[in-house]
Amino acid sequence: MAQAGMHAMVGMVTRKFANKRQWLLLGAILGSFIPDMDNFGVAVATVMKLPTAGIHRTLTHSVFFVLAVVAIFYLIGQVKKDVRWGNLGVGLGLGILLHILLDIFLWFNGVALFWPFPLWVNIWANTTAPEWFMKFMDPAEFLLFGGYLWALSNWSNRYKTDGDFAGKLRMWMILEFALFVIFTPLVYMMSKGFATIFGAIYLFSIMMAFIVTIRMRKTIEAAEV
Ligand SMILES: [Zn+2]
Repeated sequence: MAQAGMHAMVGMVTRKFANKRQWLLLGAILGSFIPDMDNFGVAVATVMKLPTAGIHRTLTHSVFFVLAVVAIFYLIGQVKKDVRWGNLGVGLGLGILLHILLDIFLWFNGVALFWPFPLWVNIWANTTAPEWFMKFMDPAEFLLFGGYLWALSNWSNRYKTDGDFAGKLRMWMILEFALFVIFTPLVYMMSKGFATIFGAIYLFSIMMAFIVTIRMRKTIEAAEV
């Protein structure tokens, strides 16, 4: 798992390239979340006691996945005769690609960049991060989800959009920061069972952030420059 909130905030930066193409920025932010949703597959395999290797950082972290998403949304746009779906697809592709690049450069694991071809790109193969740091990466997920929601609330204040959602947004943001405070000591104290509890709340958080992003699409559209 690699800091979904940070990926989303990087997606927000692409607003400079959105160039008033409706739904492109929305796609880029949503696309930043999508690759790590393969953790749902890991969770299902874990519950069913199946092997989990080869699920995370494979299909959804592949350049072919990017091309497929762009192509599918292009076709939807053609069928619906609505250019916004094509824009959404380009945005999703951009967000997914940015996510993959960030995973390669900022993370300490490999990415199956050309999946289904088993070629793992790992520039960190000779580096081992300290254990305390790798552990800290788990609660940091919640910190960065909170940071992402905070950035969204800034946009919503600036553009005076989605005011009716401000209260709920604040609630989700506070919850994520609280989870960070709770899980930071837990990751060092709990020897058993941490991964299950953390994993469940992480999956909940990534879905929440994804749905909040769609709910706040007016804000994101307003932020396109
Ligand atoms: Zn990833």
